[in-house]
Amino acid sequence: LRSPFHGGHLEVIVGPMFSGKSEELIRRVTRSLIARQNVLVFKPALDDRYHASAVASHAGRSVQALAVRGVADIRAHLSGEDRLLGAEPDAEKRPLPDVVGIDEVQFFEADVVALALELADAGVRVILAGLDLDFRAEPFGPMPQLLARAESVEKLTAICTVCGAPATRSQRLIGGQPARYDDAVVLVGAQDSYEARCRVHHIVLE
Ligand code: ADP
Repeated sequence: LRSPFHGGHLEVIVGPMFSGKSEELIRRVTRSLIARQNVLVFKPALDDRYHASAVASHAGRSVQALAVRGVADIRAHLSGEDRLLGAEPDAEKRPLPDVVGIDEVQFFEADVVALALELADAGVRVILAGLDLDFRAEPFGPMPQLLARAESVEKLTAICTVCGAPATRSQRLIGGQPARYDDAVVLVGAQDSYEARCRVHHIVLE
C-alpha cells in the first residue's frame, strides 16, 4: 500500500488539463488516509490568501488541502511555525507527515524542487500533480526538474475535444480563439478557457 518504494520517495503525476491528475492525486491520498497515515495536501492559493481548502477533481471528488502562497508557507506549516489548523505559535516542532501531496505544482517557484527532495530524503512519500506543459506546449516551470528526479512518473492523457484521440496538450482559448504565443501564461480575465487537445489539433498562433 505504501507504494513499491521503501521509505521516502517522489511520485509525479502529469498530463494536460482534464487528464485526471487531481483525480489520481485524490485516489492515492485517499488510500493513504484509509491506511491511517498522516497526510498533508497543499495547492497554490489563487487569491494570495493562506487558508484551509480542498483539492477537487472535475468529476467532484475531493480531499482537504491547504492553499498556500508559495514554498515558504509549506515550510512554515511543516515546521509548525504557522497557526493554521489549530497549531499553537510556540508548539513543538511537528513530526513530518507520512505523505505530502501537492496539486498544481507547476505554479510553484523553483524552490519546490529542493523542498520535494528534502522531504523524500527525510522519509516522506511525496506525491506531486501538475501540468507538464504550458499552453504553448513548452515545459512548465519546475516540472522538468521534478520529472527527472522522481522515482515514479505517471503521464496521463485526456480526450481531444476536436477528434476524440488521446490529448497530451492544453489548448488555450481567448474569446473562443486560439491564444497567441506571446499571450501571458497567467492572464486574469473571464474570456480565457482551456480544452484538452491532441498534437494535431493543438494550435498556438504566432
Ligand atoms: P486534471 O486535474 O488533470 O485537470 P481532473 O482530475 O480535475 O483533471 O478531471 C478529470 C475529469 O475531467 C475526467 O475524469 C472527466 O470526468 C472530466 N473531463 C472533462 N473533459 C474531459 C476531456 N476532454 N478529456 C478527459 N476528461 C475530461
